[in-house]
Amino acid sequence: MNHVRLARIEAENLLEQLHIRTAPVDVEEIAEKLGLWIQRDDLGVEVSGLLVTKEGDSGIVVREDDATVRQRFTIAHEIGHFVLKHHRTHGKLVRADQNHQVMYRSQEGFRRFDPLEVQANQFAANLLMPVKLLEAAVQALKREICESDVTTLAKKFGVSEQAMTIRLTAMKHI
Ligand SMILES: [Zn+2]
Repeated sequence: MNHVRLARIEAENLLEQLHIRTAPVDVEEIAEKLGLWIQRDDLGVEVSGLLVTKEGDSGIVVREDDATVRQRFTIAHEIGHFVLKHHRTHGKLVRADQNHQVMYRSQEGFRRFDPLEVQANQFAANLLMPVKLLEAAVQALKREICESDVTTLAKKFGVSEQAMTIRLTAMKHI
């Protein structure tokens, strides 16, 4: 199984286990149920999130100045690192994440090609915008998606318009 497919399956399994079937998905509740603490802090300009693990205790630090939708994506991304056990794979205690939006936008940024980052982003997209829920929301429109629909869908799922655009493109709706 490729790593992108695995990320989707892990995210969908988690939603299934927690009986989450409506948007917006409450990522903080998911983190809490996984036993992860969440802390907001000034992480500087470069870092949007951290997954910290120490003596079996793990938590997420998210940049307090980021917009809510951005914080939600960061938390979902760090949950991905945790669920996919990236923090154990490399034996690192702390995993620092740079600006995810830049990672998405960047055509040549090397982090974009880091398979663990790609996987964590895929996990986050599938956790916040599950295919089933998003497909149902798109079908409910009963027409081709226009720009204002992207805004509406982004609000409904609690993600940035950019993240929604990427997701809809990947699902071939734009
Ligand atoms: Zn990451």
